[in-house]
Amino acid sequence: MKNFIKILKTNYPDIKFKDSDSFYWSPDKKIIFYKQNKNEIESTWAILHELGHALLGHINYGGDYSLLRKEAEAWEEAKKIAKKFSIKINEDHIQDCLDTYRDWIYKRSICPKCSTKCLQKNDFNHYVCHNCHTQWKVTSSRFCRAYRISKYQHKQKLLI
Ligand SMILES: [Zn+2]
Ligand SMILES: [Zn+2]
Repeated sequence: MKNFIKILKTNYPDIKFKDSDSFYWSPDKKIIFYKQNKNEIESTWAILHELGHALLGHINYGGDYSLLRKEAEAWEEAKKIAKKFSIKINEDHIQDCLDTYRDWIYKRSICPKCSTKCLQKNDFNHYVCHNCHTQWKVTSSRFCRAYRISKYQHKQKLLI
């Protein structure tokens, strides 16, 4: 893992790599944050995926569905980069990651009060239920969020 980071640093001198508690790309700082996992292969894939975001110039802006599209694009890019280093990313792993993401997007769009599936408002972190008019906010979308934030208690606190 350490060696792989070293190789990436040499190949992509404009991008910084930093040890963290999760994998993500910070477009402002141009840093790829990565986590040291027991599963080195999956960690390698995750770093390549973040590098995909980085090379495509992805910024954290837009609604959930544009993020989902960018997630898929980042994996496509990751596959290309992986080839350069003779690494093959497992296709099932990619689909699993995208499914987790879809799931997360779906869960945060469900009304905490009446469970209707709702659409995001234009300010992206804001949902309004067309059925019961409940409004709720969610944390800003970030690439590769691996956990679900749809804790209704948390949302309830944020009801306007
Ligand atoms: Zn509702
Ligand atoms: Zn991603």
